[in-house]
Amino acid sequence: MPIADKMVGIVESASMIRKMFEEGIRMREAFGADNVFDFSLGNPDVPPPPVVKETVLGLINDAATSHGYMPNAGYPWVRQAVADYLNTQCGVEMTADLVVMSVGAAGALNDTLRALVNPGEEILVPAPYFVGYNQYAFISGAGLKTVATKPDFHLDLGAIDEAVNKNTRVMLINSPNNPTGIVYTKQELDELGLLLEKKSKAFGRRIYLISDEPYRKIAYDVEVPWMFGVYDHTIVLTSYSKELSLAGERVGYLAVHPAAEDAELIAAAAGVANTMMFVNAPALFQQVVGKLQGVSVDIAIYRKRRDMICDGLAAAGYDFNLPDGAFYLFPKSPIENDVEFAGLLKRENILVVPGSGFGGPGHIRLSYAVPEQAIVNSMAGFKRAMEKAQKLK
Ligand code: PLP
Repeated sequence: MPIADKMVGIVESASMIRKMFEEGIRMREAFGADNVFDFSLGNPDVPPPPVVKETVLGLINDAATSHGYMPNAGYPWVRQAVADYLNTQCGVEMTADLVVMSVGAAGALNDTLRALVNPGEEILVPAPYFVGYNQYAFISGAGLKTVATKPDFHLDLGAIDEAVNKNTRVMLINSPNNPTGIVYTKQELDELGLLLEKKSKAFGRRIYLISDEPYRKIAYDVEVPWMFGVYDHTIVLTSYSKELSLAGERVGYLAVHPAAEDAELIAAAAGVANTMMFVNAPALFQQVVGKLQGVSVDIAIYRKRRDMICDGLAAAGYDFNLPDGAFYLFPKSPIENDVEFAGLLKRENILVVPGSGFGGPGHIRLSYAVPEQAIVNSMAGFKRAMEKAQKLK
């Protein structure tokens, strides 16, 4: 093998995703972009708020704007702006030294996991879950262990109680959730906090909680509770990829709860991990987001699309939970084999991701970060695929 043995499996799964992406391009060329309905990508297409462009231009035209190296954890004034924002939102005494600016949420996850977990330890994650976690766990050398959720994808505290063991170093949650769109309630999170406290005591070792929150600002009519108010030993991490539609600019952060056990040490270790891999988060966009704390895209656009796609799919006989947030829908596949059903949809020029890729077999994941017209024009195809699937049963 010309590549490292440990890379073989991970390259194969990454190449499956790349093939799907390339297939989308091929189909658009063959059938015309308007005739291919690509619900497979979580790439925000809602434009960033106009103030983003104004801020970028203002910084570019300002001779005082820095483009050089900075402290590796980020510009101190940007970290302070994030800390101030968090203080207003969740009433903690956050300080700039507990914030590390990162290369997106992915960078923050890598930094945090490498700061906390030893090879051979376990990262516990409720399934279904975001596929990137496999790769971040791989880099950290820890094992990713999944725990089932309830049929409505909320946390199954009984299953978590059984799954946590002496090797569990971290529990990783994501709300609003990719792929299900679920937002965990304050009550279930409170129960999770108590459980992690109890287990940490029982095993004589702190279990940390990582709350991955890149969709926090994309929630419809529900509150997204702050884990900082629930469990002290929490690291919150996020990015501006979705809330400001800046996914390609690669900027985010991690923030360690001031009362977490060894908070300063964890933030320092995450900062060093950041240096090893990325050196620092992009300079220009750190300064942009430093000036735009609290700003977000117009989520009314996503809400309208959610309602359109849910109404259409319900009428076509699809079975799903109404998503509370993010821009994903996770319907049941009408046949057991979700890969086969994704194939039926592909024959209608509709691209979706089989749920088994997210540890949620028997489902498909749709991203509604697509134009409204794609939702309207695809509905007949969704209906035909459902009818064909019913005949296969
Ligand atoms: N976490 C979740 C749940 C995601 O859905 C994504 C991206 O889709 C990420 C992390 C990575 O986000 P970023 O692009 O900001 O690195």
